[in-house]
Amino acid sequence: MKILYVSAHPDDECDNAGGTLAKLSKHNDIYIIYFTDGRLGSPYPEERGDKLALIRKKEAMEGLKVLGIDPNKAYFLEYPDGELSKFISDAVKKAIPILQNISPNVVFYPSTFEAHPDHWAAGKIMKEAIHEARIQADQLSYLNWEPKISRNLKITLRYLEWKISMKKAIYVNIEEFMDVKFEAIKKHESQIKYFDDQYMEKFFKSKYERFYVEKSYSNLKEIIS
Ligand SMILES: [Zn+2]
Repeated sequence: MKILYVSAHPDDECDNAGGTLAKLSKHNDIYIIYFTDGRLGSPYPEERGDKLALIRKKEAMEGLKVLGIDPNKAYFLEYPDGELSKFISDAVKKAIPILQNISPNVVFYPSTFEAHPDHWAAGKIMKEAIHEARIQADQLSYLNWEPKISRNLKITLRYLEWKISMKKAIYVNIEEFMDVKFEAIKKHESQIKYFDDQYMEKFFKSKYERFYVEKSYSNLKEIIS
């Protein structure tokens, strides 16, 4: 089976699906799209830029190897970190031939309920591209951070919309692959030094990874959980 995992940034695949990808790579062909170059991935402005983008690309490739994924099957589209939402139509045009070449059975992409603008944009781009490429793939989304109720009306409205349209969730047990997931994220050295305890706890202590069913043509549960 051919599986395409879409990341807005180099490392989203480890954080959100490292265990699932390690599990799936045993018996499937995995492809990755990275939409942005991660050039802003430092709290210090002097560390940001071309050099960091290059480091993150290398780290991503090393991380993929740990997950059992061939780095040659990764597409680095290198849109500027933080600005993907400005390039939606361009990125749809780039994603269409990739989808047609791979012809994936399953596509994972970030939920369009993501508050992070790059994650939101990556989800929107993929929904459009899959539609335009006329690919009949099972589609699963993931949320780095679930929408929450807030004093900010816009954020609360997003939360309500999410709750109402809540998709069916699939939980993948990754207990056996937690070590591999942790090994893979350790390759993202430039990033883990800035991860706080809450982040590590959320992404690296859980025995499950959760995905939402956006569209399903087959028995997804059998395929991925
Ligand atoms: Zn990200």
